[in-house]
Amino acid sequence: MKKIYTSTEQFQLGHITSMLKESGIDYVVRNDFLSGALGELPPHECWPEIWITHDEDYDKGQAIVTEASISITDMGKWQCECGEENEGTFGSCWKCSGDRP
Ligand SMILES: [Zn+2]
Repeated sequence: MKKIYTSTEQFQLGHITSMLKESGIDYVVRNDFLSGALGELPPHECWPEIWITHDEDYDKGQAIVTEASISITDMGKWQCECGEENEGTFGSCWKCSGDRP
């Protein structure tokens, strides 16, 4: 079992896990249940992590993570209801924490 990806962005995690699922790669997400405790623990200890179950899938998984990161970046900026412009990688507004439309 190998850790392949970690992020605080639920949007990115969801994107990558759905791509792994489509490719038939087994994975587990750890620390997800701790997200409610953010602020009480050192941040890096409660970031959700994606772990690849079978080591032989790691290289394939790595390619998916790279591909997913590129496609997320390609989405470009989006504007929140509060009027703030956010980077395409943000799943929610950095200013008001509003959900991405
Ligand atoms: Zn906002």
